[in-house]
Amino acid sequence: MDHAGGAHLFRSHFGSRLIMHNLDAEIVERADPRLTAAFCFEIDFQPLPIDKKLYGEEGNIPCGTQQMVWLHTPGHSPGSISLYLDIGGKRCLFVQDIGAPLLKEFDCDPVAWVKSMDKLLGVNADMLCDGHSGAYNPKKVVREYLQYCIDMQTRMGYLDV
Ligand SMILES: [Zn+2]
Repeated sequence: MDHAGGAHLFRSHFGSRLIMHNLDAEIVERADPRLTAAFCFEIDFQPLPIDKKLYGEEGNIPCGTQQMVWLHTPGHSPGSISLYLDIGGKRCLFVQDIGAPLLKEFDCDPVAWVKSMDKLLGVNADMLCDGHSGAYNPKKVVREYLQYCIDMQTRMGYLDV
């Protein structure tokens, strides 16, 4: 809900196309009240058709004159993705909910999450923009933030499977 809840407004006001990994698109298209977390906000999430579904592990999305790379980074949700863009000789990585607790109520997958974090460390980004906690740079601080997320999940016991 906190990531897709306003998507219909972007479509209706700005003509935005909604892009989502197929594994999460299925959840929002049927408006699953638990997996969209709509019940947490006491909001009636309406079925939301997705314009373009991403399949597989990686691909490109046009971004102006460039290509943005998307990576399948499941764990928080089955279809979580992260994106990066190389611009001005720097790599900027966009993530969401990598620091969110891996709650069983949302069918989070700790094993997949750990692999996704390895994938994000491998991106070797110069800047990281997190949908909840802000932006981090330079490269050393990005790595520290990713490691902080791993340490936090470990400390909270969410990686014990
Ligand atoms: Zn969130």
